[in-house]
Parts: sequence; structure tokens; C-alpha cells
Amino acid sequence: MSPASLLIPPEASTPPAYGAAPSDPSIHELPSAPPCPVESLVIIGSGPAAWTAATYAARAALNPIVYEGEISRDMIPGGQLMWTTEVENFPGFPEGIGGQDLMDRMRAQALRFGTRIVGEEIAKVDFTGHPFRLVTSTEKVVLAASVVIATGARANWLGLPNEERLARIGGGVSACAVCDGALPVFRNRVLAVVGGGDSAMEEASYLAKYASEVVILHRRDSFRASKVMVDRVLQNPKIRVEWNTRVVDVLGDDEITGLRVADVATGTERILEVGGLFVAIGHTPNTGFLDGQVALEPSGYIKMPQPWRTTTSVPGVFAAGDVMDPYYRQAISAAGTGCMAAIEAERWLAEREG
Ligand code: FAD
Ligand code: NAP
Repeated sequence: MSPASLLIPPEASTPPAYGAAPSDPSIHELPSAPPCPVESLVIIGSGPAAWTAATYAARAALNPIVYEGEISRDMIPGGQLMWTTEVENFPGFPEGIGGQDLMDRMRAQALRFGTRIVGEEIAKVDFTGHPFRLVTSTEKVVLAASVVIATGARANWLGLPNEERLARIGGGVSACAVCDGALPVFRNRVLAVVGGGDSAMEEASYLAKYASEVVILHRRDSFRASKVMVDRVLQNPKIRVEWNTRVVDVLGDDEITGLRVADVATGTERILEVGGLFVAIGHTPNTGFLDGQVALEPSGYIKMPQPWRTTTSVPGVFAAGDVMDPYYRQAISAAGTGCMAAIEAERWLAEREG
């Protein structure tokens, strides 16, 4: 990912053909908008969903502008694949491809067709009027005829310093078994999975195909996962459970060698030798900045009222990728819904313009 984002202030951009008068600037508590063009399509995010939406929208002459976000503790422009080394399951790369390389290519493809990119975050939105009003982290106001939200989700981590360090360098710590479990480094090893929900059960069952043994470490004495998933795990001879167990530290310099674990009741600590750690303690969708302007599921993911569509509760606002998908959470499915969102935005704008 090139660190130099192309920062284009709204007034320097080419006004799109679509252009309605700005709505009443007094709505909500957003800063008032200086005169600026109405963007046909603003895409928020920078993962596979955002760049695919941008490529499709740019090729459809929508002149899209992408707000790709900023580097923070949990997020990085380019999205979740920036944290990983090898991506082996994205079609078109039979030898695999580095996560950063893949994202660099997706961004370059969107740029090739004229996508404009701003290296800022969208901090607030106002979808109550039209055109929509978005406010960046530096308080710039952007007006948009249509919006694609592709802000992704972030895996929850245990918050241990060595966990983060080893995850960053591909040292055997991951939050996605489907993504990483088949990598040679995890084959025929003892692998630990932390968590007691459906994700942990799914990860453990998947990993059992490759590992010599999978150990589920759970902080309580019962799972919250559904019975069918629990039964599948408990019947698998390659999976065992260590109840009432907490991970205290991840051991290893360049590669994980083991875990320091503690008995929740007694606090007694011991070392568990493992060749991999998969953290499956839930995900958090990046929807906080929407502040109730788009209907969300109780879990925080964007509610999708129509099956197989990317429409949200607000006409003209579309959602793609992990921010609306708690189920698949893969780069290819994010890219697929990004494509759908751009096509839907194009058709929605065309219908409005009559
Ligand atoms: P994300 O990739 O989550 O990117 C969204 C980005 O948008 C954020 O990172 C941030 O930079 C930006 N953003 C967020 N909020 C704002 C805002 N308010 N304003 C502006 N920008 C914002 N999937 C696979 O298919 N294969 C794999 O091998 C694989 N490996 C993985 C390894 C790891 C370690 C992880 C964590 C995930 C992996 N995944 C893999 C899953 C895959 O990364 C995700 O499914 C995919 O990246 C989701 O894409 P997305 O476009 O929805 O958003
Ligand atoms: P989840 O249901 O919220 O479970 C998270 C698990 O992680 C819980 O067991 C929790 O322990 C544990 N946990 C949370 N924070 C922890 C911490 N800091 N340290 C140690 N353990 C911690 O999340 P999920 O499993 O990702 O599932 C999310 C949703 O997706 C659920 O609705 C689930 O049904 C659904 N899902 C469905 C499928 C499927 O049907 N195929 C697959 C995956 C997910 P406690 O139990 O003690 O709180």
C-alpha cells in the first residue's frame, strides 16, 4: 500500500452530472457545508469491498471518491488483509499473494479508472436529507448523491502484547482459520482455539482437518455455541476442550511456541505447547460512526432489508463487505458485494435522474 494517498479537497474535484441543492445545513450537529459539488458516489472504506466498488463505479463513469481511512490502533487503510502475510484463497493467484500486495493491486486498479482517493476517515454522517452529508475527521463536509459503506469489521483480540506482535509478523497467531488454517506452518501441529461461541466451534472443526490436535481454551465451564456445533466438536477425536482456562501470554520470538494459561478459579498458571493460536472471540463491525443513521442488527452489523441486495434502510446508501456480513467474512465475498453495491448505486442514480 503506497503511503501517499491522493488528497483531493471537495472543491478541486470535478462536479458530477448529478447535482441537487444541499439540504438544510442546520440538521443534526454537523458542521455546515461550504459550497462544494455533490459527489455522485462516495465510498467509505478501503478493503476489498471498497476497491471493487470503486473500480466498477469508475468504469461506469460515476467519478467515485473513496475515503480510505487513517492508520489507527485497530484499522489501517487497505483493511484487514494488511495484517496478514499470505492469501491463498483469492481467485486468480494460484501461487498465493501477500495481503498487502493484493490490497495494493486492488487500489491501483481503482486508481487506473480515475477513482479519487482521500486519506481521511469519515467521522459522521447525516442521511436525513438529500444530498447526504458526510464529515471527515478533519471536519470537511462532503455532499453525496449516493454512498457505499464498506468499512469492514475488526476481529476482537485478547489484548496481549505478544499476541498482537506475532499476529502482525505471521508468527502463528490468527483470527481466521478459513484464511490461515491450511497454511503449511499449521499442518500437523497442536493448535489452540480461544472462545466458546459458534465461531470457535467452526474454527476448531476446520482446523482439525489439518492439525494433529486442536485444543479449545474456554474461560467458562460451558459453551455459548449452538448445540449442533458443540456436538460436532465434542464428537471429533482430534479436538479436546480445556474449560475454565484463560490465556495469560503468548510465547515465542518469531514464531509461537506455546501459551501461558491460567486456571480461572485458582489462578494456577502452566505452559501449553502449541504451534498456532486462533482467537475466535467475536468481531466488531465498524459502524460506530453511523450513529443510528442506518438501521443496524443488534450485533452492530448493518441491517440488510432485502436478501441478495446491498440496499440499506436508507435509499441511496448501500453497504458491502464485512460491515454487513457476519457470516462469510472473506475477501472474495467482500469484493463480490462491493461489485453489487456499485451496480446498485449506478442504477439508483440513473432512476433518480430519470
Ligand atoms: P476491511 O478489509 O475490513 O477494510 C475496511 C477498511 O475501511 C478498514 O480497515 C479501514 O481502513 C477503513 N475504514 C473503516 N472505517 C472507516 C471510516 N469511518 N472512514 C473511512 N475508512 C474507514 N479473507 C480471505 O478471503 N482470505 C484470507 O486469507 C484472509 N486472511 C485474513 C487474515 C486476517 C489476519 C484477517 C483479520 C482477516 C482475513 N481475511 C481473509 C478476511 C478478510 O480480510 C475480510 O473478509 C475482508 O478484508 C473484508 O473486506 P472489507 O472490504 O469488508 O473491509
Ligand atoms: P460470540 O457468540 O459472541 O462468542 C464469543 C466467545 O468468545 C464467547 O464464548 C465468549 O466467552 C468468548 N470471549 C469473548 N471475549 C473473550 C475474552 N476477552 N477472552 C476469552 N474469551 C472471550 O461470537 P462468535 O462465536 O463470533 O459468534 C457471533 C455470532 O455469529 C453468533 O450469533 C453466532 O451464532 C454467529 N455464528 C454462527 C455460525 C454458524 O451458524 N455457522 C458461525 C459463526 C458465528 P463467554 O461465553 O464466556 O462470554
